[in-house]
Amino acid sequence: MGKEKIVKKKKYGRGTRVCRRCGNARGLIRKYDLQYCRRCFREVAQSVGFRKNS
Ligand SMILES: [Zn+2]
Repeated sequence: MGKEKIVKKKKYGRGTRVCRRCGNARGLIRKYDLQYCRRCFREVAQSVGFRKNS
């Protein structure tokens, strides 16, 4: 019987899942491998070419 706990996979230590633009971890969008928060996504999406849902 072990003391081992279930540990999530970590790529680069803690804080892997954060916005790579502002570092915010809330409202993360990992769709399309963007890894931006909602706020940054809106800005980035425009420059990348995403369109709003009318
Ligand atoms: Zn952000």
